[in-house]
Amino acid sequence: MIDPVAFSVEHKHEQVVSYFDPETGLRAFIALHNTSRGPGMGGTRLWHYESPQEALLDVLRLSEGMTFKAAVAGLPLGGGKTVVLADGNEQDAAVRAARFRVLGRYIDGLAGRYITAEDVGTTPQDMAQVRRSTRFVMGIPAEEGGSGDPSPMTAFGVLCGIKALAEDVLERDTLAGVRVAIQGLGKVGMSLAELLMSEGAVVIGSDVRPQVAEEARNRLKIEVVEPGAIYDVPCAIFAPCAMGGIINDQTIPRLTCKVIAGCANNQLEDERHGQILHDRSITYAVDYVINSGGLINVASELNGYDEGKARAKTAQIYHTIKRMLAISRAEGISTQRAAHRMALETLEQAPKNN
Ligand code: NAD
Repeated sequence: MIDPVAFSVEHKHEQVVSYFDPETGLRAFIALHNTSRGPGMGGTRLWHYESPQEALLDVLRLSEGMTFKAAVAGLPLGGGKTVVLADGNEQDAAVRAARFRVLGRYIDGLAGRYITAEDVGTTPQDMAQVRRSTRFVMGIPAEEGGSGDPSPMTAFGVLCGIKALAEDVLERDTLAGVRVAIQGLGKVGMSLAELLMSEGAVVIGSDVRPQVAEEARNRLKIEVVEPGAIYDVPCAIFAPCAMGGIINDQTIPRLTCKVIAGCANNQLEDERHGQILHDRSITYAVDYVINSGGLINVASELNGYDEGKARAKTAQIYHTIKRMLAISRAEGISTQRAAHRMALETLEQAPKNN
């Protein structure tokens, strides 16, 4: 496994903090990658990790992705992330609530350098608990004045990006009849499936949770394949909407798609896979470019949430994807490299504010 300390040095993380609260058993890491454009913003992931090293590496990777995501989306924010190590005790509602209140205290101690929100494994209700200890939290429930679950906005942003890719790569001005294979029919994946179907696309899905697969079959009336079979589904677009690292040496040779465009963070197992996709003429939408709708949604809470404004800004993902494709074509480089260049250019222009 990659050494997390060496990774944080190489990737220039500003600050990494390890937390343990003996009273509630909360164990968490918070990483701030780059705050030159504003406070680091990124959700709190609650996940069962095999080891603390794995959790640490995850928070480092995810926080760096947030820096690039905020920069490419043109938000005055930097990159940060929290991971909370699940140990099963958080299934007790009282323990869970107490842990998120403690997490809020820790975040408050960072004095506004970091702002959290929900992520995989956490909910707007968890964020409401965090809110009891700090104001540096977004994505709280709508009934408490927040923006609620960002997933529908993330799905909308992915749809906008897919439309740009369909035009430029598939040379289709409509999604009617376009086959899209979605891995993961959770909060974003299911919402994306519905949006795509409303545009006439043919959706094939997969999920490791049998009840979710069943719901998709019964309610959406779509074909659902076994989780391991999604890579082999003949399709024009593959949409990873589950976990990261799924584009790798084993899966790439199986893909039949022309485009990879989904919401999952850190889709490539390694940076070199971006080049491999490019060499195989598979256009990769770049996770942090196409999935920024959720971040845009929670960030808009900072100035008083307005769904219409958040939606209009999210729709810009269409143009950002077109810009990335134009750079990739003009320079003959992978979309991964084109996106990285876009992010670095924005970061270099950033006024130092801390
Ligand atoms: P979620 O937990 O609601 O959904 C993930 C789904 O994937 C679940 O239904 C799970 O059962 C399924 N899954 C897990 N492993 C799988 C596998 N190997 N094959 C098939 N299905 C699998 O999470 P979500 O909020 O929909 O987020 C999905 C991804 O998008 C995550 O990587 C997340 O970090 C990223 N993301 C989410 C948002 C958001 O607004 N929710 C924003 C940006 C990025």
